[in-house]
Amino acid sequence: MLPAPDRSRRGAVRDRMLSQASLPIAGNRTERRLLASIHDVGPRFEREVDQLADRLSRHLGGPRFAMLVVPDHWGQAPLVGARAFQAKLRDWATSGVEMFVHGWTHRDDNPTKGFKARHMTAGEGEFSALPQAEALRRMTEGRALIEDITGAPVAGFIAPAWLYSPGAMAALGEAGFAMAEDHMQVWRPADGAVLARGPVVTWASRSRSRIRSSLAFAALARTALRPLGTLRIAVHPGDTSVPALLDSIDASFAAATRTRAVGRYSDLVKRN
Ligand SMILES: [Zn+2]
Repeated sequence: MLPAPDRSRRGAVRDRMLSQASLPIAGNRTERRLLASIHDVGPRFEREVDQLADRLSRHLGGPRFAMLVVPDHWGQAPLVGARAFQAKLRDWATSGVEMFVHGWTHRDDNPTKGFKARHMTAGEGEFSALPQAEALRRMTEGRALIEDITGAPVAGFIAPAWLYSPGAMAALGEAGFAMAEDHMQVWRPADGAVLARGPVVTWASRSRSRIRSSLAFAALARTALRPLGTLRIAVHPGDTSVPALLDSIDASFAAATRTRAVGRYSDLVKRN
């Protein structure tokens, strides 16, 4: 009779399988982290953002999440002059919320792009076709505005719909952001180093079919993404209008916080 493989051998096999799937693994609870974020923060969605901030704070034991701030959503909700909302942002930043610049208007208004390309992201991929100079201008102005309001450095830049044109990618390095992320990874623009890998768990409220598929992915992710060293969960203002999405968000946070420490994006920079 053959001896049963010992523990270390089984561990090695498991490690190899996970590395083949290029998933960074972590051996214990303290090494696995959860990064939470609220997208599209600005005066346009003040009520929804308040609701999400309360909800996430309950799951995370305080305001331990990032906010993606839009300086002038759709050109209709300027942060400049929105004094009450600015005060809220400042308070959140003071209480430890990490602030990311999330575009300028959030909308893709590039007239050279066909309807179909804009339709794919519901016209929300502001940086998906911007040339470098314009991308850099919006990044720099967004950063200055948000840092002026909060009195603290932003954590990084995240493009609307996680879409970056080649010009936007080049501008990120020039703008000097410590971090950027897309749907599949977090990276350091200065040298391109990947700081975390793995898909973001997020929900879509735009149509019934998107609601259904995001519910299915979130449910699958609760077990399939367990090996990830860093799990990202992102919520949007529109999620608050769909009870099934809120239930799913609650379930995903409950599952993640059982096995992970609540982390900060800036931890990724410190460790690498
Ligand atoms: Zn957004």
